[in-house]
Amino acid sequence: MIESSLSDPDIHGTIRVISAAATDVGHVRATNEDSILDDSPIFLVADGMGGHNAGEVASAIAVEEFEKLTVQENVTVEQLGDALRTAAERIADLGGEAQLGAGTTVAVVATMVLDGVGYWVVLNLGDSRVYRLSGEIFEQVSVDHSVVQELMDRGELTAEEARTHPYRHMVTRALGAGPETDPDYWLIPAEVGDRMLVCSDGLTGEVSDTAIERVLRSPQDVRTIARSLVDLALEGGGRDNVSVVVVEAVEITGLSPEDEVTADPRRARDEDLPFDEDTLPRAVSGEGGANR
Ligand code: MN
Repeated sequence: MIESSLSDPDIHGTIRVISAAATDVGHVRATNEDSILDDSPIFLVADGMGGHNAGEVASAIAVEEFEKLTVQENVTVEQLGDALRTAAERIADLGGEAQLGAGTTVAVVATMVLDGVGYWVVLNLGDSRVYRLSGEIFEQVSVDHSVVQELMDRGELTAEEARTHPYRHMVTRALGAGPETDPDYWLIPAEVGDRMLVCSDGLTGEVSDTAIERVLRSPQDVRTIARSLVDLALEGGGRDNVSVVVVEAVEITGLSPEDEVTADPRRARDEDLPFDEDTLPRAVSGEGGANR
């Protein structure tokens, strides 16, 4: 499966990134049920749920399945979907105590170059999040699959109220827990200098978007930024496990030189069309005529 997509003729080039991850159990929980993956081209946070050690097991399974894609320079959306499905099957097959309500959120940023254009592929299931800093833009890319998000969508709750709502930890979709397991995907053109943040709700439950943006915009390196974000969550209360992965695009390479040989004539023809239309009136007026 991996071999066939590596030879996919539509995929060329790479997005070179620098990245860093940080995680902390927090001040209240006994164990850290978050799992993280920081290995190009996959950057992932999974926040496990379930009794006993079910959450830890489920989030670790998500990381294991996506880790198999890190031998590649690029991934496809199909491969991400396959990794999700395999992880869901493994979680469903867990026996004994580990199966009790076992599930996990999954938030992923993956890099992909398609027809010479670099993209961030974002995948989300649950209430872990992906944020993007690109030039002036700072935005939450993913949309939570949560009870409070649904209340906010209906206008019954403000974002500020959601942070303290009693159902704020209740997700409406997760991998392996509950009937809703369909992820959402986004494909976003990548620019050199973009910073992507993948994080668990242990960060966003304690730290405002404004504070997150301020840290992401700082000129410090991604390792310092990742650590600073976790420290802010701990200072804010650290009531949950907190995990972050920060990814910065440092170089985007498109078509290889041999690909450009075949791509150039097609591109030249496309550009000739409007040029021909512009030159036609000049030829008719007798001042040009270079085409004749
Ligand atoms: Mn959490």
